[in-house]
Amino acid sequence: MSSTRKQAYQDVLQRKPQPIEKISKVSDLFGENVFHLEVMREYLPDEAYKSIKAAISNGTRIDRRVADMVATAMKDWALTKGATHYTHWFQPLTGATAEKHDAFFKPVGPGRAIEQFSGDLLIQQEPDASSFPNGGIRNTFEARGYTAWDPSSPAFIISNTLCIPTIFIAYTGEALDYKMPLLKALNEVDKAAVDVCKYFDKNVSKVTATLGWEQEYFLIDKALYNARPDLMMTGRVLFGHAPAKGQQMDDHYFGSIPERVTSFMREFEREAIRLGIPVTTRHNEVAPNQFECAPIFEECNLANDHNLLLMDIMEKIARKHDFRVVLHEKPFAGLNGSGKHNNWSLATDTGVNLLAPGKNPKSNLQFLTFFVNTIKAIFDNADLLRASIASATNDHRLGANEAPPAIISVFIGSQLTKVLDNLENNIKAGKMTPEDKTELKLNIGKIPQILLDNTDRNRTSPFAFTGNKFEFRAVGSTANCAQPMIVLNTIMANQLKKFKTSVDTRIAKGSSKDEAILKELQQLIKDSKNIRFEGNGYGDEWVKEAEKRGLSNHKDTATALKIWSDKKVHDLFESLNVLTAREIEARQEIEFEKYVMKLQIEARLIGDLTQNHIIPAAIEYQNRLIKNVQGLKDVLGKDANTASSVQLQLLKDISMHMNKMQDASKIMLENRKKANKIEDIEKRAEAYRDTVKVHFDEIAYHANKLEIYIDDELWPFPKLREMLFTR
Ligand code: ADP
Ligand code: MG
Repeated sequence: MSSTRKQAYQDVLQRKPQPIEKISKVSDLFGENVFHLEVMREYLPDEAYKSIKAAISNGTRIDRRVADMVATAMKDWALTKGATHYTHWFQPLTGATAEKHDAFFKPVGPGRAIEQFSGDLLIQQEPDASSFPNGGIRNTFEARGYTAWDPSSPAFIISNTLCIPTIFIAYTGEALDYKMPLLKALNEVDKAAVDVCKYFDKNVSKVTATLGWEQEYFLIDKALYNARPDLMMTGRVLFGHAPAKGQQMDDHYFGSIPERVTSFMREFEREAIRLGIPVTTRHNEVAPNQFECAPIFEECNLANDHNLLLMDIMEKIARKHDFRVVLHEKPFAGLNGSGKHNNWSLATDTGVNLLAPGKNPKSNLQFLTFFVNTIKAIFDNADLLRASIASATNDHRLGANEAPPAIISVFIGSQLTKVLDNLENNIKAGKMTPEDKTELKLNIGKIPQILLDNTDRNRTSPFAFTGNKFEFRAVGSTANCAQPMIVLNTIMANQLKKFKTSVDTRIAKGSSKDEAILKELQQLIKDSKNIRFEGNGYGDEWVKEAEKRGLSNHKDTATALKIWSDKKVHDLFESLNVLTAREIEARQEIEFEKYVMKLQIEARLIGDLTQNHIIPAAIEYQNRLIKNVQGLKDVLGKDANTASSVQLQLLKDISMHMNKMQDASKIMLENRKKANKIEDIEKRAEAYRDTVKVHFDEIAYHANKLEIYIDDELWPFPKLREMLFTR
């Protein structure tokens, strides 16, 4: 074994599980490190408490005086928790979170100092924004960016720092982050949904989008991870022969989770619980060393903050346990990738889940209204939804027979298919008779509250109805859920507004309310039928069928992102005031850039690793073979030919694979140079896809052959079997 690899392997063998802190009740920890409403009630004067509560539930403004009181309370509370610093915590368009820490400590005279935090500092700050992507929004002369407090997501403490969730905007007010448009989209869907709810219940005054995410990840020992430059730099292995034992044995190869992993999980889950993230222990192992964490759903903005926070905590705690968390969508070719299912629904302030069938015809009609409108929104905006989850890393996963295809479709199950078919076919043209209405209502009333085919629901669908929520399964494991959630909630808001207008028009023309709703639903069901698919989403037949139906199949990010240039998309987001055309263009450019950058880094690494690691190992092995062949000749003379036939064949095979690998690398390098000169980012992305990335598989193929031919002792990198089966 090469020395780094050997050392890494030995390190792993010596590891011991970290002891688990003894705790009597985990529930006592919940929210311990969060400045939540209960703590605020304790720390704030009544007036300030009421004001912040209103701001959280209705988005009302907080005045300066109250902000000062909140800041002081936050600081006092944070000090009791041992915090020394504070930071505005925000979500720049890099995809990760960012923060800049400042101390509470302030000298106020010779030998005198205080801990200080004011409303000003709470409300707004100016981080050094120049290093964050802005897609041309911030020219140097207007380089300033601001972070501004988001009171709807509570402040929390992570190792001595009070973190305040904030939005991140440019001097001009344009969004430079994911949170601001998400909050706007949530606000729009709230308004639009409340208006529609009024048809059914006048008491509804707020509708909240809910998000329950399921985070998949791999856990790799730190030493082995560090011995794989590709994994470190790109999040995935660029080479590596598939292990003899993969996930073919679907019987969960490691039945029980080894102690080291368990103690890691316990610790990160506790840390999460302290931060108010409602994780409940659940470990799904799909591929070896792959796990999943899924908290209970929450309000969408908070749930998303919690997901970002959890990804950070996982990484931090993993290091303590000598692991590294690998969040990449497809770290190991040939094994299952990782996704982040986004379970989504809408809930009223009267306690109703709008996507759950109800108890009577009226509540079921409300359910059907939201259900059908969702389907129509997806039908009209499938390309946009596809674009919202596009990334170089997720490209490896979509359509790879373990994740949903890149074709967006909606699965609803056989029972609801029947219900929709019934509505589609049994509402007659012209005015409905009272008998027709009664008949329909009776049928609608029969929708069971618990839908049977939930249990064996279709796992191959990218957007599936799962009984009381939709589950968007195409989201990648590294993604910031805000991106798909901005799109989903915006298109839903738009659809609900259109629905309301159409129903009102029908009513104005003399229809009764129920008739207007039913007729409109019938129309929507007809119009959106093509997006519904109940069959196997992984099959080739579906690709053909989807094409016939006119559904798009954008296989890669460079294609998927194009939709953001569409005038209709700009109009949609501008009309709802979620994103301006300029913000959209900036985001699109950033996404194209990220795509190119990721492929560029991978291409460079492939060049580096083949050239500086794999080829030298291959040559060294060849030298050994040559020496051996020469030795045999010395000893055996003319009989040496037969005796060295294996060696000679190996020598030739190794040279052949080296040559082919090198040739492809050279072409790739040339193409990369050419691609880099292309000014237009969209064209550059296409060039990277068509002329650079196309060589990755071929190069890996030869590298993997060399891995097999070359003496195990000499192979420079930990092999996949070592990474996935050593714990
Ligand atoms: P799986 O998809 O792995 O079978 P479940 O169906 O049990 O898992 O639930 C998946 C996730 O859906 C959970 O994280 C749960 O919190 C979330 N969820 C349940 N109800 C809702 C809802 N109304 N809105 C959003 N998410 C929800
Ligand atoms: Mg799921």
